[in-house]
Amino acid sequence: MKINGTLINYYFHCKRQCYLHGNRLNLEDNSEIVKIGKAIHEERSEGRENTEISIDNIKLDKLTSEYLTEVKKSDADIEAAKWQLIYYLKVLRTKGIDRKGKLEFVEKNKSDKKILLFQLDEKLEEELENYVNEIERLILSENTPPVLNSSKCKKCAYYEYCYI
Ligand code: SF4
Repeated sequence: MKINGTLINYYFHCKRQCYLHGNRLNLEDNSEIVKIGKAIHEERSEGRENTEISIDNIKLDKLTSEYLTEVKKSDADIEAAKWQLIYYLKVLRTKGIDRKGKLEFVEKNKSDKKILLFQLDEKLEEELENYVNEIERLILSENTPPVLNSSKCKKCAYYEYCYI
């Protein structure tokens, strides 16, 4: 499977989740959390232009002349969201499109939103390349990473697969 933003995100969230998704065990369609994320995206997209753009194997929430913006429903895993965005910035750069990255966290029942900004530089590009290589090795591995036994498992689409 070609590396994509979802795999990058999962790698930081949980190596096992990354491995399962990378090996095409896809349980996300039934997940409440994924449905909430989609609903937030659809609500924000109404009446707007430039939302959800597909380039290669990635889907971008919003692209303007200055920013590529990714919208997340929670700031529970900022590192995962950050590297997903960095990956998108890098894909855009390979197409000759240079943008700054903006992460918007829009939590349910909260009127204010948290915003983080990122700029792709050489160091981030190098780190990203290392992560992409690690993810490729992980997915090809014969061993499934162990379960996390973490509170975040309760919100994961693979919860039943891992624990029941
Ligand atoms: S349920 Fe937990 S261990 Fe299993 S894939 Fe999800 S986050 Fe990882």
